[in-house]
Parts: sequence; C-alpha cells; structure tokens
Amino acid sequence: MISKKAQEIPPFLVMEVLEKAQEFERRGERIIHLEVGEPDFDTPECVNEACYRAICEGKTHYTHSLGLMELREAIAGDYWKRYQVKVSPEQILVASGTSPALLLLFSALLEEGEEVILSNPYYPCYPNIIRYVGGVPVFVDVLEEEGFQYLPEMIQEKISARVKGIMINSPSNPTGNVMEPGRMEKIAGFSPYVVSDEIYHGLVYEGKAHSILEFTDHAFVINGFSKLYAMTGWRLGYVIAPREFIRPMQKLQQNLFISAGSFAQWGALSGLKEADEDVEKMRAIYDQRRRFLIPRLRQLGFGIKVEPTGAFYVLANARRFSRDSYGLAFDILKEANVGVAPGIDFGSNAEGYLRFSYANSLENIEEAMNRLERYFERDK
Ligand code: PMP
Repeated sequence: MISKKAQEIPPFLVMEVLEKAQEFERRGERIIHLEVGEPDFDTPECVNEACYRAICEGKTHYTHSLGLMELREAIAGDYWKRYQVKVSPEQILVASGTSPALLLLFSALLEEGEEVILSNPYYPCYPNIIRYVGGVPVFVDVLEEEGFQYLPEMIQEKISARVKGIMINSPSNPTGNVMEPGRMEKIAGFSPYVVSDEIYHGLVYEGKAHSILEFTDHAFVINGFSKLYAMTGWRLGYVIAPREFIRPMQKLQQNLFISAGSFAQWGALSGLKEADEDVEKMRAIYDQRRRFLIPRLRQLGFGIKVEPTGAFYVLANARRFSRDSYGLAFDILKEANVGVAPGIDFGSNAEGYLRFSYANSLENIEEAMNRLERYFERDK
C-alpha cells in the first residue's frame, strides 16, 4: 500500500532522540540538548528587520524560481569576498534550505544506478537523498587518526565510469573537522563532479575553510543560511552549479517548490550585507564552548584524537563505555537527562561514538558534563 521508496527511507535518528527528549520534558524533566545541530542563538536583528520590512512592503509573492536577483548577486559577491572566486548569479539557484537544494542537485545529476562517493562517517541525509533519486552511495572509510579526513588515494580506488560525484563536507557534520586544502585540491583533480556542502563555512576556529571553487569549476556548492546566520527555521539555502545544470534544476524547482519564500530571501540578503558583526560574535562564543567541551570530554574518558576546528560538533569515541551508540545515547538521555546523538546515525565507522553539539550555552554544557560525570561514576 505504501510506496517502497517511502518505506525504505530511514529515519533521522537525531530527530528521534530529540523527540524522545521532548517526551521527557512534557513529563517535567529538564533535558540538556546536545543532540541537535541547531544554533541556540536568535537570528540577527538586521535580518529580522529586513524581513518585517519586506512583509510590510507587500513582498509576499512568489519570487523568480531561481531566487531574487538581488540575493543571487549578493551570494556571488560573498563568494568573491571570501574566496576570490568568480561566480555568476546565473549559476545560482536559491532553494528552501540546503536539504531541498541537495534533492534538486542529485535529481539533476544522477541517472538510475549512478554512484556518488561519500565518506563514512557522513551526514545521514546524503545517502538517503541519493538513494531516493535512484543513485547509489559508495562509502570511503575515513579514520579517526586522520581527523576523519579523506585519504584522496582511497577515493581514487573507488572511481569508475559509474561514479558521477564525490561528496565533501568541510567543516564537517558530524566530525567538526576542516579539510586540508591539499586534500581538497587532489579531490578536485579527479574526474567526477565534486559536490561540496559548505553550510558550515564561516564557523571555523583555527585555520581557514576553502571553497571547492578555488580548485575547480567542475563542482557544485551547496550552502545555506541555517547555521552561520542562525536561521534554521527560515528554510533557505542555495546551490552554485555549472551553468548547464541550472535550467534542469530550475524546471525541477518550478514543479516541486515554485520558489523559496520571498520575505525569507529579503531577510537573508540583509544577513549577507549587514550581519558580519553578529556572525563574528556567535563564532567567538562557539569557540569558547569548544575550548571548554573538548578537554572536559577527554577528562570523562572520551577519545578525541584530532581536535575539531569547525562547525559546532565533537564526535567523541565512547567505545570504552559501549559499542552500542544507540543504546548508550538513549540510556544517557533517560538516566542523565542529556541529549546526545548516537554515532551509528552517521555510518558504521561512527558506531561506538557520540556526537556532541556545542550549539548550547556554556552554562548548559557545563551542567551536561557534570551530569555525565555522575552517570559514568554510577557505573563504576
Ligand atoms: N548539510 C549539513 C552537513 C547539515 O548539517 C545540515 C543541517 N543539519 C544540512 C545540510 C541541512 O540544512 P538546511 O536544510 O537547514 O539548510
């Protein structure tokens, strides 16, 4: 009765931990949420104001299916300012979040049975979206010792005529690691398209993140406003693509979504133009939390071989406590009232790990660590 496609798509486990946590909250328990990948900050005021203004001025209609020209020009300007890469607004499609952008991109890129190389661990929606459009994810192991970064030689071994794309995500969810430019350059030299999810760009605490477009034009960039601008609920993202892909993606957009939300786009435009200071404040606070969280996790007995320097995640090795991350995450939620993401959500290589998000206040992170300390003490 229900389609095979709908039956087969796996749930997003992090959301299941969150929903369980909310059930406990309804019973009156105070849960500290370190499971969700969502900024705890409010959206910058200038963005909100630009959005109110747009609504008051009646900018509440469909926009061009590729997105407002003003916004696409500002995105192109932003890539020039940050990476000195030339992107035309004609190469940009604005979507209702990076998630729909990924759906449009893979729908336009993949024939049935064509492959996309993914790292394992990976962001869970990648293989699910790829399979949903008929593609096949092919996993390349990345190791904790290497900071979970690709070894380009291992990608090379998997390349065949069936491989259409290589997915990269730096800074990465779930590992928080930032890819070294040398590795990125090597990957850019391979024949498949590189699909670079740059949604955590700007949230880097040491060194610098590079855009794939610095190394090749044979690539797609996925990016959005959810993380850097604390705009998850606005649902706004974009894809930068080789020109020949824009028209097919535009047709898909027209049929599936028509356009992204109009006033959200006006708000985001102000984000790109006026929110640098707000973004910098948030970045500095994330860094402070990161510097607190990493040593505290190590003190509790978690393994962190290479310190993450981007996004707002730590993927910590919990194998000395349990090899069943799903069971451990739900037990920690129940017994210690701390929400954490089970590693298994991010692939077999993250089994036995927990992902901690530091998109929460320093005070809450400190309290969560104290609760974990008591939880592990009890087991001794
Ligand atoms: N890519 C990555 C790596 C993410 O972590 C997320 C959010 N969890 C997304 C894409 C989706 O973001 P959105 O749809 O809110 O733009």
